Amino acid sequence: MERAYRLRTIPPYPFREIAALKAQKVARGERLIDFGIGDPDQPTPDFVMEAMSRAIRESRTHQYDETGHGYPEYLASIARHMRSRFGVELDPSKQIQSTIGCKEALVHIEWAYVDPGDLVLVPDPAYSVYKVQATFCGGAAYPMPLLEANGFLPDLGAIPASVARRAKLLWLNYPNNPTGAAADLALFEEAVAFARKHDLIVCQDASYVEVYYGDSQPPSILQVAGANEVAIEFHSLSKTFNMTGWRVGWAAGAAEPIEALSKVKANVDSGTFGAIQLAAAAALDRYAEWAPRLREVYRQRRDALAEGLKGLGWPATVPEGAFYLWVRAPQGETSAGFAQKLLEECGVLVVPGAVYGDWGEGYIRMSLTIMADDPLAAIAEAVERMGQLEVTF
Ligand code: PLP
Repeated sequence: MERAYRLRTIPPYPFREIAALKAQKVARGERLIDFGIGDPDQPTPDFVMEAMSRAIRESRTHQYDETGHGYPEYLASIARHMRSRFGVELDPSKQIQSTIGCKEALVHIEWAYVDPGDLVLVPDPAYSVYKVQATFCGGAAYPMPLLEANGFLPDLGAIPASVARRAKLLWLNYPNNPTGAAADLALFEEAVAFARKHDLIVCQDASYVEVYYGDSQPPSILQVAGANEVAIEFHSLSKTFNMTGWRVGWAAGAAEPIEALSKVKANVDSGTFGAIQLAAAAALDRYAEWAPRLREVYRQRRDALAEGLKGLGWPATVPEGAFYLWVRAPQGETSAGFAQKLLEECGVLVVPGAVYGDWGEGYIRMSLTIMADDPLAAIAEAVERMGQLEVTF
């Protein structure tokens, strides 16, 4: 049976292929140092697991979650967190939606708004889901290049008016995967003004908002005046609490897109397992004591890898946020070719930048989520192995 056109037109999910390649190598007994997929290697905190084991005994969690937006305890905890962390006031009944991780919501918001012929403004390079879902809905992604010369921020002024007229959504993702760039409130202000002018919705993917290295905390787009009419922001516990497998997050912002998302979800997934929502509420309640410990782990790894690459003379962007180093490929090498060379000659797994879009060509991404008994020693070993390569930048 021929698959539907919408499935035929989207590419395979890149990380499935990378995971399969890794599994093959490991099965052959090769010792890889894995800077591939951004999946935290540290365990979920004990206090979250304890909350989960209590919650799972509450029989209401064994049934469908019929609340619509999520358990009241979870929504209240999100509202408290958004107030104390960002100074943002939200009405939990209209402006927050519990989600199954962030990815689910990124997909479903596009289903809610994108019709055939519509455009979606997508950063390039970027997490592949924004662009793929535009195609899946019969629309198309219009790329906004993220250039090193511009601090990996999009130039909204370069978007032609004819494109903006056809666009329904504008995607942002700061702190940024894959470049590690952070944005300040000025970009969010510009995006909100752009959305008002062109009547579109700004979707800010805040998956990495708690992974940062400087003294100033990355902001929420909802801090911008008027954002609560045109912006929706996607948060996740995946990276902040080492909970990728749990599949839990939330969307917050303007009431209309929140309700649209909620309507899609009600027809598709019936919500997040209630016990997980209660465990997520317990996690957020201890955010302030937990998050600095998480950041310190990545800071040590970031510094070790950045110093190591600098010592080799490799041009790497030292991330301001998220846990990725965006490294330029040597002269004459494509990102895929260089990634292949690192894998075959050094046993070092990285992601080719072209996976993130045309403007990712010429780079590789190295994740700081390193599965190893001693990740700092693994970084040192990887740097030593990479130092054996003959490369010119
Ligand atoms: N957004 C970005 C930019 C990501 O890099 C990822 C995962 O790596 C996600 C969303 C998905 O996160 P979640 O586990 O919350 O679905």
